[in-house]
Amino acid sequence: MSIERWRPRQAHTRQEEVLLRRLCRTRKLFGFLREHRHELFDDKFQTELEGMYRNTGAGKAPVPPALLAMAVLLQSYQGVSDAEAVEMTVVDLRWQMVLDRLGSGEPAFSQGALFDFRERLIRAEMDLRLLERTVELARRTKSFDWKKLPKTLRVAIDSSPLEGAGRVEDTINLLAHAARKVVVCAADLLGWSVEKTARAAGIPLLLESSVKKALDLEWSDSEAKAKGVDVLARQVESLEAWLREKLPEEMARPPLKEHVDTLEQIRAQDLEPDPSGGGRTRIRRGVAAERRVSIEDPDMRHGRKSKSKLFNGYKRHIASDLDTDLIIACAVTPANRPEEEAAPALKADVERQERRIGELACDRGYIGSPVVAEVVADGGEVVCKPWVPRNGKLFAKSAFKIDMKKMTVTCPAGEVERIDLGADVEFDAETCAACPLRAQCTTAAPGNGRTVSIADDELLQQRLRKMMSTPRGRERLRERTAVEHSLAHLGRRQGTRARYRGVRKNLFDVRRGAAVQNLETIQRRLESEGEQRKAA
Ligand code: SF4
Repeated sequence: MSIERWRPRQAHTRQEEVLLRRLCRTRKLFGFLREHRHELFDDKFQTELEGMYRNTGAGKAPVPPALLAMAVLLQSYQGVSDAEAVEMTVVDLRWQMVLDRLGSGEPAFSQGALFDFRERLIRAEMDLRLLERTVELARRTKSFDWKKLPKTLRVAIDSSPLEGAGRVEDTINLLAHAARKVVVCAADLLGWSVEKTARAAGIPLLLESSVKKALDLEWSDSEAKAKGVDVLARQVESLEAWLREKLPEEMARPPLKEHVDTLEQIRAQDLEPDPSGGGRTRIRRGVAAERRVSIEDPDMRHGRKSKSKLFNGYKRHIASDLDTDLIIACAVTPANRPEEEAAPALKADVERQERRIGELACDRGYIGSPVVAEVVADGGEVVCKPWVPRNGKLFAKSAFKIDMKKMTVTCPAGEVERIDLGADVEFDAETCAACPLRAQCTTAAPGNGRTVSIADDELLQQRLRKMMSTPRGRERLRERTAVEHSLAHLGRRQGTRARYRGVRKNLFDVRRGAAVQNLETIQRRLESEGEQRKAA
């Protein structure tokens, strides 16, 4: 199988000149991509893209991978589906121009080819290369004065919520949805109808279009609801017992195993024995730590935008170069995971580009990551709002002098104690009892002295507090807003709801959105340089 290389023309046709003039005001990225496509997809990068096809053996010659990669970028730029992207290659002159297919009446590729290309891109981590390529293009176009930029990177990281694409359901619907998938799969394996299978398996609740309709309960009556949950749980048990008898081997292999595992996961996370007895089952009290919220998207989780606002899905994280505004790394985590878990992946992607982080600007959500300590150990600086110690009307921790060299803490009355990182220190109970400042310091019970918590990263917290106390330090802190703007822009491009299911596919989507955003940044820089030259 030979792979045709994409060789778009460089010289303009008359029709392209007309189109390029029209693209000076809106949707300027089309014009930019037309002019820079051969640089973005140079021979070296096209060889890398073609490498994704090497192990496939004989088969239909693929559409040039670089052309499909360009279509993937255009798809993100315009926020269109695969089917729409195929149509765009026929009906939209801007797509046709960028793909070097002006005048063609046939689609540039099929929907299946685009889907297959995306899967390959993800498998081969080439979506990361696509993002890196935009940074390389920025260097090549000389739109940034790289010589004047610091040798090490000043990186800002931040995250925003991304609602998952899967339907979020309550326990009863989740359980019925998972059971229905098992029944449909079993019916398929047996060559039976779904109805016959559900009856034979003892789960007739699935015969109705909705399990709640089948249960037909007064849902505001807690006793009736509890009975309904128990009935469903018993029918699910019956289904599993029937499967063990009827399809024991199939249960241990795909595709049935996957559905059975999902059903088991929902049962384990959402149900528990009713302590009131009678062998009844009830909805679990409290939320399981890794509770699955959607059957269609197994990776989605409950998360919090703030103390009161919840969302279901993912967090998208980006690392942005503060000196160029280019996004250099992306990560996606389930919404319930703390921010700091994304930092190692972001750092690894930055280091792939053979760059070192000299300054890391982040919010407190990332401060617990080992990446923070690594940056400091590597001679870099961390810029972050420190925790502000509060203690009501009593002396806050800031009233105590912590000496990290001597590893001591001195209280407002001048008493000194030794400290250990990550541990609470307690002042002498008798001294505190006799202290004239006690009423302002502690409400500890008699026989106890005032305690002060020493953080694991106390030295860093001290440095951050010192930084915050100076105008220059506060100015450096404000620079992080650039990444917030980038993230907001990316959020508008992607929308609030994920296009794909699962962490990895959504990472692909964030990376390609970031790649498009970088290309727009380069385009704007070049445009402003051109305007400055004209004005000079
Ligand atoms: S109460 Fe104890 S810790 Fe507080 S100021 Fe007095 S001696 Fe120091």
